[in-house]
Amino acid sequence: MPNSPDVVIAGGGVMGASLAYWLTRFSPKLHVRVIEKDPTYAQAATALSVASIRMQFSNAVNVAISQFGIGFIRNFQAELGHDVGIPTLGFKENGYLFLCGTDSAATTMREVASMQTALGADTQLLNAADVVARFPWMSVHDVVLGSFGNRDEGWFDNMGLLSGFRAAARAQGVEFIHDTVTALCRDGAHVTGVVAQQTGRHSAGTVVCAMGTRAGALLQMAGEPWPVEPRKRTVFVIDAPDARYPDAPLLVDHTGFYMRPEHGHWITATVPSHDPAVDPDDFTPNHQEFEDVIWPLIYARVPGFAAAKVVRCWVGQYDYNLLDQNAILGAHPSLPGLYMMNGFSGHGLQQAPAVGRGVAELILTGQYQTLDLSELGVERILQGRPFLERAVV
Ligand SMILES: Cc1cc2nc3c(=O)[nH]c(=O)nc-3n(C[C@H](O)[C@H](O)[C@H](O)COP(=O)(O)OP(=O)(O)OC[C@H]3O[C@@H](n4cnc5c(N)ncnc54)[C@H](O)[C@@H]3O)c2cc1C
Repeated sequence: MPNSPDVVIAGGGVMGASLAYWLTRFSPKLHVRVIEKDPTYAQAATALSVASIRMQFSNAVNVAISQFGIGFIRNFQAELGHDVGIPTLGFKENGYLFLCGTDSAATTMREVASMQTALGADTQLLNAADVVARFPWMSVHDVVLGSFGNRDEGWFDNMGLLSGFRAAARAQGVEFIHDTVTALCRDGAHVTGVVAQQTGRHSAGTVVCAMGTRAGALLQMAGEPWPVEPRKRTVFVIDAPDARYPDAPLLVDHTGFYMRPEHGHWITATVPSHDPAVDPDDFTPNHQEFEDVIWPLIYARVPGFAAAKVVRCWVGQYDYNLLDQNAILGAHPSLPGLYMMNGFSGHGLQQAPAVGRGVAELILTGQYQTLDLSELGVERILQGRPFLERAVV
């Protein structure tokens, strides 16, 4: 194995795989190596995601990222090439419904919806009567306003997205290696490669950190602060026999939970009121969260949930960006040679097509060519200048 590829990507989740795909789609002769510590993806956010996509973000750039994402997801096989066994992603276009319960939240909701529709999204504002007319199984006593994504929103096959990127990248010559990156190699400030546990030093002109919740540890070892920490989310699969509404949207409720249908069941989660950083190996579910927190809130919204039982649950971790809950992308100004793809704070899966394409453009040409992602750059993090995404689920 020649140990000096052009680009080494640490982390082969959806971000690393998407980047590898785009780099070699644009530049077929480029030698790209992805180093992934666990090819089963047992702890990767990509595998533990709720796998949904929406246009309803508060930053225009995130709307544009998802607009590119949905086109790519709909045409996945055609984009990547049928001949390398690319799956369809089974996009289920049920929409997202955000509900708010105060006048001030409704004002914000109106402003954000108007920005989204100006960009071409089909975001519809619904008053409480409209919500019930559309979803008669909901109780809307406390709802001031809702916003519903009528087009281009729903959910899809997360592992299909990852395996498709991997298969297409491999077909384009990308090398995937099973190993754990333990350190950055440096020549002064310059990053010149990585060290991996089994395979040693991998020198490269460009190194990309796409290590999800573990990116912070790598940067801190290099003496650089990184305000991204692992945050635990327990996702519950619920059987509610009197509440089977297969056309239900992904409901994001102002009372503090989200839920969506999934193969005759529901999946649901909340943002825990106590939400500390956790160990990146901590995947112990918070079993009580459904009964103590989520169920009373769902029952108040959906009376059909009187009978509901937990079928199973899983834990995933967000790579939570403490500064502004937005992606952190591009060249690291203090560590030349290093690029970051991190901090997605629970909405990165849908962003992988556009982020992979954008970071590939940046690496290959020195600037974004199609969609300008520079608002999401690393500089703002180092300068403590937030670019806040308010619609974080
Ligand atoms: C519960 C939950 C629900 C979510 N729901 C949604 C949603 O509905 N829609 C959406 O768009 N997003 C959602 N997300 C977020 C989305 O899943 C992530 O933002 C996205 O998958 C991040 O991809 P990634 O490749 O950056 O990280 P990961 O998928 O975590 O991949 C990082 C990879 O790096 C590897 N790695 C780590 N350390 C090393 C090392 N030292 N050496 C080599 N490899 C290493 C890991 O093994 C892993 O495979 C959700 C996340 C969670 C946890």
